[in-house]
Amino acid sequence: MNKKSVKDVKVRGRRVLVRADFNVPLDEQGKITDDTRIRASLPTIEYLIQEGARVILTSHLGRPKGKVNLKYSLAPVAKRLSEKLAQDVQLAADCVGDVAMEAVSKLQDGQVLLLENVRFHAEEEKNDPTFARDLATLAELFVNDAFGTAHRAHASTEGVTHYIPAFAGLLMQKEVEFMGNALERPDRPFVAIIGGAKVSDKIGVIENLLEKVDALIIGGGMANTFLKAQGFKVGKSLLEEEKLDLAKQLIEKAKAKGVELELPIDVVVAKAFEANAPHRTVRVSEIQEDEMALDIGSASAERFAARISTAKTVIWNGPMGVFEMDAFAKGTERVAQAVASCGGITIVGGGDSVAAVEKMGVADQMTHISTGGGASLEFLEGKVLPGVAALNEA
Ligand code: ADP
Ligand code: MG
Repeated sequence: MNKKSVKDVKVRGRRVLVRADFNVPLDEQGKITDDTRIRASLPTIEYLIQEGARVILTSHLGRPKGKVNLKYSLAPVAKRLSEKLAQDVQLAADCVGDVAMEAVSKLQDGQVLLLENVRFHAEEEKNDPTFARDLATLAELFVNDAFGTAHRAHASTEGVTHYIPAFAGLLMQKEVEFMGNALERPDRPFVAIIGGAKVSDKIGVIENLLEKVDALIIGGGMANTFLKAQGFKVGKSLLEEEKLDLAKQLIEKAKAKGVELELPIDVVVAKAFEANAPHRTVRVSEIQEDEMALDIGSASAERFAARISTAKTVIWNGPMGVFEMDAFAKGTERVAQAVASCGGITIVGGGDSVAAVEKMGVADQMTHISTGGGASLEFLEGKVLPGVAALNEA
């Protein structure tokens, strides 16, 4: 995927519409509880300021369902951006029309304007062409830096590109490069680790990765369906009966492709889904009828870690157990450590996996942490993301 980036175009003195992902979590008082996404957008914004562009930021926040709802106002984001950029970032009360036009006309080179929540208009998610054109009218160039929404063809991610030239922001470029390179021309061995609750969430990812990896490690709740497919009894564990046949097919496909499939050989079981439930580690052949597997066991974790340590490329999506509970977090911790100390390219995607890696303090030891949950999943599924596809070719 060879797309032009913001660095490939002259921006000085020009009005640049930047689609960012400012969909940050807010508490009851409307205070930002995690500004990771704002921080992730800064390199592109700072670059544009430094180059003397007139920066017009657009984003959605939450699900206002196409109506003005000040609960989802971007005002807190404007304030946080003003602090981070050490310059005043005004909020235009609407993202299109006279209000927006007037605010844009006052912009000087190197100044930044934030447009109010683009999803206050129902036309945004419908990718309405008139609305997209109205947005595009504000600027001469478009930069998409919202990887997290790139899997949606909305007016502010796809529609605008029909009216003004479109470039990848620095965050977008990083996401597409790291994940694209890993999938298209990985250094080998290429190992993928897939976990999380359900097989059904990640069928597409497993199918696509089976075409590309040398080894596939499966842990977490979804491993139970694979274990059952292999004939093990999994007791009360999370299990998707209707996916047993599919699991069997995937096991066969791995064999046919020569992909080493690693499933847990031992698990941590408990009789209740509770943080303080008594638990024990057993071999996968020893799960009792009244027990559920809530984490991979230490023997599995060591096996997985050994496999990871020799990899040149690692993609990790999905925790190995119910890591939210300390008693069942050890498998995920061990795998996180192994990925962190792996000398190859390491990429972590998925909301919960990223949270786990951050909680364990090893995030900065990863080559790349993907900021887009749904978008990174679709990328790993091998799908074309409309927000990426729409950018100008290099
Ligand atoms: P990600 O957000 O990284 O893509 P998922 O959302 O697919 O990950 O899965 C994360 C969830 O899976 C966590 O809430 C975790 O508690 C749950 N999970 C992991 N292992 C198990 C298990 N053995 N039984 C039940 N739930 C599990
Ligand atoms: Mg999740």
